[in-house]
Amino acid sequence: MLKRVLIANRGEIALRVRRACREAGIETVSVYSQADAEALHVQLATRSVCIGPPRAADSYLNPTALLSAAIATGCDGLHPGYGFLSENPEFADACAENGITFIGPSGDAIRKAGSKSAARGLMRAAGVPVTPGSDGPVSSVEDALAVAEQVGYPVLLKASAGGGGRGIRRCDSAQDLPDAYAAAKAEANACFGNDEMYLEKLVLEPRHIEFQILADRQGHVIHLGDRDCSIQRRNQKLIEEAPARCLTPELREEMGRAAVAAAKAAGYVGAGTVEFVLSPQGQFYFIEMNTRIQVEHGITEMITGVDLVRQQLRIASGLPLDLTQEDVTLTGHAIECRINAEDPFTFVPSPGRVTAWHLPGGPGIRIDTHVFSGYTVPPYYDSMIGKIIAHGDTREQAIARMRVALSELAVEGIKTNTKLHRELLADERFFQGGTSIHYLEEKLRSRAEAHK
Ligand code: ADP
Ligand code: ADP
Ligand code: MG
Repeated sequence: MLKRVLIANRGEIALRVRRACREAGIETVSVYSQADAEALHVQLATRSVCIGPPRAADSYLNPTALLSAAIATGCDGLHPGYGFLSENPEFADACAENGITFIGPSGDAIRKAGSKSAARGLMRAAGVPVTPGSDGPVSSVEDALAVAEQVGYPVLLKASAGGGGRGIRRCDSAQDLPDAYAAAKAEANACFGNDEMYLEKLVLEPRHIEFQILADRQGHVIHLGDRDCSIQRRNQKLIEEAPARCLTPELREEMGRAAVAAAKAAGYVGAGTVEFVLSPQGQFYFIEMNTRIQVEHGITEMITGVDLVRQQLRIASGLPLDLTQEDVTLTGHAIECRINAEDPFTFVPSPGRVTAWHLPGGPGIRIDTHVFSGYTVPPYYDSMIGKIIAHGDTREQAIARMRVALSELAVEGIKTNTKLHRELLADERFFQGGTSIHYLEEKLRSRAEAHK
C-alpha cells in the first residue's frame, strides 16, 4: 500500500479521504489555503502545509504549490478529491513525473474520457449510445448552426471542459443560437480557462442516471450500480438516490454493461462515474464521464457496502480489485441531500460564522461534513457544507429517515438550504418518484408564483 498521501483538497472530502487513509494505515498530509487555517482537516492533521492565499486559483488550483508540498513532506501518493485539480490531466502527469502516485486515472485516460467532446467519439466507437450531436468540438457559430440543423432543435451547447453545470446553454431555434453560443463560450472561458464548445441534441424530460465504476491496473472493470441524480437546479445536483427506482433489472444490466464498456474504451483506472440521460421512453445516452470520486459516492457505499475511497487507495497501490461484478449486490435504498450555505430559495451564498450546529443521527443516517460550531464558512469556495445520507430497507424508509434527519438539523449564524430539502422530501411528486431533471426548477417556479 501507499505509505503517505497528500490530501490535495478541503472540506468534507478532505476528511473523507483522511478517514480512509487512517483506516488503511496510510499517513496523511493536509494542505490548506490561508482562508482554511482553522478548518477541521487542518486541526486533525499531524502534518499540514499552507499552499497559498484564499483564492482557489492561488492555492487548491495551484499545481506547483501542491506538488512542492507533496515532495517536501515525502508523500508517495496524492489524492485530488473532487473539483479543483481532480480532472486535470497535466496535473496527473506532473505527479507521475515526480514519482508521486496520483490517486485516479492516468493523464491520458483523463484526456480521453474527461474531455466531454472527445469522449463522445470514443464512446460511439465502443458501441455506447451517445446523444446525436457534433463529432468533436464545433469551431464557429456557423458550424454549430449546421450541426443543430442536422440533429434538430432543441439542442444544448456545452463546454468541452465543463463541470458543475457551467458552460451549458439550451437553444430552441436558430435565432437563439448565436447569443447562446457567445454566452456559453464566455462562461466556459471564465470557469475553465478553455472555451472549446460542442453541441448535442436535448433529450426531452430525461432523468439523470449514472453508474459508479471501479477499474484496477490489472484490467478488471466493474460497476457498483446506478444513481438517480435528477433533482437538479441549473444542471447541478441537489438530491441523489441509489438505486434509481425507474430502472428495470434488464435496463440496469444493459446500462451497467454500457458503463463498463465506456470505462474500458478509455483505458480507465480507479473510481469513476459514467453519466447518462434516460428518456421517458427508456432510451439512454452517454453524456459524460467524471474521472474522479463523486460528491454523491456515499449513497453507493450505503447500498453496496463497498468503501469507494478505500478501493481508490488499493487500486492506486497496484492491488487488484477484491470483488467481482457478481459480488456486488444492491441492498436497500439511499438518499443524499447536499447541504449548502445559501439562501434556500434565492440560492445566494451565505458564508459566515456558524454559531450553533446540531446534527441528526440514528439508524441509517450518515453525515459527511467538515463544519463544527464556531466554524466560519469562507466565501471563496463551493457552498456545500455537508451531506446527509439516509439509508433504509426501502425507498419509503429512506425518505422517512431523511425527513426526520432534516427536522433535527439545526444551524445558526448562516443560511442553509435545509428548508428547501424539507419541502422536497415532503413533496408528493418526489415521493411518487415521477420526476425528470426539470422537476426542481418547475417546483421553484410554481412556488415563487404562489408566494407573489
Ligand atoms: P458531482 O456533483 O457529480 O460530483 P459536479 O460536476 O457537481 O459533480 O462537481 C463536483 C464538485 O466539483 C462541485 O463542488 C463543483 O463545483 C466542482 N467542480 C466541477 N467541475 C469543476 C471544474 N472544472 N473546476 C473546478 N471545480 C469543479
Ligand atoms: P456537467 O459536466 O456540468 O456535469 P453534463 O454534461 O453532465 O455537465 O450535464 C449536466 C446536466 O444537464 C445533466 O446532469 C443533465 O441533467 C442535463 N443534460 C446534459 N445533457 C443533456 C441532454 N443531451 N439532454 C437533456 N439534458 C441534458
Ligand atoms: Mg455531469
